[in-house]
Amino acid sequence: MSSFNNCIKFDLDIKEKNIVFKDYFYKMVQMKKHKIYEAELIQPACPYCGSLALLHNGHLVTNIRYLTANASLPVIIRLAKQRVKCRDCDHWSMAQSELVNKYCSISNASKLKVLSALTEDRSMTSIARENNVSINTVQRVLGNCSHRFIDSYEYLPSS
Ligand SMILES: [Zn+2]
Repeated sequence: MSSFNNCIKFDLDIKEKNIVFKDYFYKMVQMKKHKIYEAELIQPACPYCGSLALLHNGHLVTNIRYLTANASLPVIIRLAKQRVKCRDCDHWSMAQSELVNKYCSISNASKLKVLSALTEDRSMTSIARENNVSINTVQRVLGNCSHRFIDSYEYLPSS
C-alpha cells in the first residue's frame, strides 16, 4: 500500500483496506468548488464461493458525498467499484463498501453526522448546508433512523 493512499485515508478517517486512493483535485461542480478524491474499491474475492480467481470487467463509478470540515468546500469521493466475474462459479459481483450503502450517494459517515446534528437544537437548513446534502436528505435520515433511536434508547444500560 502506498504512503499516498495511507495519508489520504488517515486524513479522511477511512479504514477500509479495500479502498485505494489514487488521486485528488479541485473541480467546479454546479458553479461550486469541490474537493474530489478518486479511489478504487477492490473486490478481493467472490462473495458466492470465496474464490480468488476473478475476471475483472470494469468499474461502476459512484460519487459519494463525504464529510467536510469546511462547509464552503464540499468533499466528494469518486469511488470506482470493481466489477468481477468469478472463474470458478461464474457469478458476477461488484465490490461493496461500508463507506456507503448500495445505490446510495451519501456516505454513512455523513448520515451519522446529520443524525447527531439532529439531536441538537438546530435547523434542518443549517445541518443540510454544513453537510453538503439536501434538506430532503436530512429529513430522510431522520425518518430512517428515528426507529433506531427508539430501539437504542430502550436498550440503554441503566446506570
Ligand atoms: Zn465464485
